[in-house]
Amino acid sequence: MTSQSSLNIPASGSTVRISIIDTSLDAYLPTSHFFGPTIKGFEDFHAVAYGFLVTHIDKDGKERRIVFDLGTPKDLENDFPPPIFETIKAMFDRLKVEKYVSEILTEHGISLDSIESVVWSHAHLDHVGRPSLFPKSTSLIVGPGVKEAYYPGYPANSEAPVLSREFEGREVTELDFSPTDLEIGGLKAIDYFGDGSFYFLSAPGHAIGHLNALARTTEGTFIYMGADSFHHSSMLRPHAGFRLPTDVRLPSLCCAGEAFNAIHPLSNLDEHPEYYQSALQHPSNDKNETPFHTISQTPEGQSLAVDIQTARNVIGAVQKFDADENVLVIAAHDTSIYDVLEYLPKEANDWKDKGWKEEGRWLFLQDLKPALDLSGALGKPQ
Ligand SMILES: [Zn+2]
Repeated sequence: MTSQSSLNIPASGSTVRISIIDTSLDAYLPTSHFFGPTIKGFEDFHAVAYGFLVTHIDKDGKERRIVFDLGTPKDLENDFPPPIFETIKAMFDRLKVEKYVSEILTEHGISLDSIESVVWSHAHLDHVGRPSLFPKSTSLIVGPGVKEAYYPGYPANSEAPVLSREFEGREVTELDFSPTDLEIGGLKAIDYFGDGSFYFLSAPGHAIGHLNALARTTEGTFIYMGADSFHHSSMLRPHAGFRLPTDVRLPSLCCAGEAFNAIHPLSNLDEHPEYYQSALQHPSNDKNETPFHTISQTPEGQSLAVDIQTARNVIGAVQKFDADENVLVIAAHDTSIYDVLEYLPKEANDWKDKGWKEEGRWLFLQDLKPALDLSGALGKPQ
């Protein structure tokens, strides 16, 4: 039996064509806002943002196109409700965006009229983009509860992360996972095109109606769109399905697996807040199969996640997909694999032949290199 049967992905010969979109976000963000505990020397991380152009072609040659995630709209001051702009100024002072996703598509000859739907993995400012730059014939697909929470947009809805123009005159479809019996990798799934080529997955916890997606890239391979289920691969790996090897090779560093053990929070667990100790303690207490970070929280129990335990459970589900050699997991902001991936107009369907998964798996460890240097785990500082 293949490991895909353990994920319960139904067999199908139907695929979609996938292009990864570099949405042009360039941001430096505080790690503590997203994941913890803080490892000294790793206090900020660089975030890009990926979107995906998904093209389905049926037996008669009819094309249907959707775009999964629109990144951050570039005119921060005018594209957001004032309260959201104030948040950006206060918290994300090093955040730049060069282009709208609609511009990127047009530049590559993709007619916006050909986009059936745009999808928000969730309604955070770095994913909502500018649906209003697409024709009214393009619908907006959102996860459960998003429409109820934010429709019809700001100012009528003061909680909305977008202006009312983003919803106006546009069909807004809220996915409903309640009737589905299909679960893939433990997550409720909707077979969107009805032929096993593309699934929306309910991946709750990070935000209201948070979605992931699974695209069949060849008959036996898949790209998993992880959105914000994790913000840095140190929240995902290592895990039991991908143990940290002692001879892990990085471009600037060879064979440093044991050195990374020295800065793993499990090495000095009692120096971290109790709420992190309990969240990090893996049943095996094995640093080589426990991620370096978990979703951050404050002593008061505050978290970016709307439901931190559910969001942590989703990371456990994503680890099962990640453990499958035929599934490439891409989180929205995983900059560590930026130079490994190829972008629109190129397609990503042959990722496995190109070895992207092997090449990218441990690159996130490079962000922890300054922490290694600080700790002295690599030997005496120069
Ligand atoms: Zn995000």
